[in-house]
Amino acid sequence: MYLSHTAEHRAQTTLHLTQTMRLLGLNTDELADEIAHELETNPVLQMLDTTHCPQCGRRLRALPCPNCIAKHTGDTPIVFLSPRQPGSFRATDEEPDDLPAERIAQTETLAEHILRQVAFSATDSEKIVAANILARLDDKGLFTEQAAELALTLRVPLEAVNRMLALIQRADPVGVATRDIRESFAVQIEVRRETMAVPPLCERILAECWELLTKRNYQSIARQLAASLDEVKEAAVFIRRNLTPYPARAWHDSGRGTHRLARDVYYQPDILISHNPRPGGPLIVEVFTGLSGALRLDPDIKSAIPTVPEEDKPEWSEYVERATLLVKCVQQRNHTMRRIAEIITAEQKAFIVGGDCDLKPLTRSALAQQLNLHESTVSRAVSNKSAALPNGRIVPLSIFFDRSLAVRDAVQTIIGQEDRRAPLSDTQIAELLKPQGYIVARRTVAKYRQMLGILSANLRGRELSLSQ
Ligand SMILES: [Zn+2]
Repeated sequence: MYLSHTAEHRAQTTLHLTQTMRLLGLNTDELADEIAHELETNPVLQMLDTTHCPQCGRRLRALPCPNCIAKHTGDTPIVFLSPRQPGSFRATDEEPDDLPAERIAQTETLAEHILRQVAFSATDSEKIVAANILARLDDKGLFTEQAAELALTLRVPLEAVNRMLALIQRADPVGVATRDIRESFAVQIEVRRETMAVPPLCERILAECWELLTKRNYQSIARQLAASLDEVKEAAVFIRRNLTPYPARAWHDSGRGTHRLARDVYYQPDILISHNPRPGGPLIVEVFTGLSGALRLDPDIKSAIPTVPEEDKPEWSEYVERATLLVKCVQQRNHTMRRIAEIITAEQKAFIVGGDCDLKPLTRSALAQQLNLHESTVSRAVSNKSAALPNGRIVPLSIFFDRSLAVRDAVQTIIGQEDRRAPLSDTQIAELLKPQGYIVARRTVAKYRQMLGILSANLRGRELSLSQ
């Protein structure tokens, strides 16, 4: 059956749309991976090692493109697509000594951050145990010493050490002070189950098929667990997307800690916002594209295709189609990212150069309307990405849409006032929020509680009763 011309056209457009949507959901790192993979497997696709401005096409002498800057007028931010490799990024050029004093005062070390949470449910002697555990973490945030040895050294019962270990592991960021990545993942899964739907196979894969998981051998895992390949993949994707191998590092990377070295090395934001070197000039916004050069179809190979043997032609035309689609969709994705960065920076300038209290939450639907895009497109573009602010802080893009700050504040107040002998469950907290005008689900309360670094009622209560 032949497709009519318009139907065929529509089918292509749908393909284009689906692909663009998928690429929008990727962050710069993942996009670069995807492009690298396609370059390896598709002979028609080519990355031209070039330094031309993605906007005006001129040879790029400096970043941002001097030609585009010269054309820029007004107070709107200068936003440009950057061909820099994500790996070449450094969070900031300032040395730690150059940090303004008030920022140093605001940041706390990871140990302080965790100890503050654990202290809620620990006796004085247990706090000492906790502090000792935290002091013995290795540079990945793992606790690789023997609990029994620490108990001997500190002259406390082994149970006290184990109890503090369990508390620390479940405090924010979840998974610190575990023995290895596998245990860290297991604890993270346990805590995630409180707030989100976790694929059922996750625990068993971690417990029984760790080696296979690290090799991404999903077929063998499915066979061993007598599960379907889809179920295994679903669990593996969940683990990859939602769990952090080294939560301590991720915490530092999020810009909340003072461990700046780790952040510089491991964190690559998708957008970098800087002050203009010219005083009073507009903010400069670099949107990383995941492209180190120009992505295109290799003209030599393309022109040679008519000469290949007839039986090979379908394969080559498929390569051409795939490459054409990818080039188009990557352009579309990056164009959308640039426009979103532009609007966010313009509307949130007060927050970007000021502080948290200057945040005026945007809505995804309003942004979608401004951009003439579908709301789901904006959601994809915003998800899973981060921006580095001029002060060096790295924030998820979703922070610009955060309406939950007030509710989180209320949750913290309620827990702060609770009877320590009868800690409030998340359900009870949700009930207490209602008269304040906040209608939220139990899971949402649990999520906010975790964001605040407060343990569950179970842990808050159990630890208190054990310590009496
Ligand atoms: Zn330019």
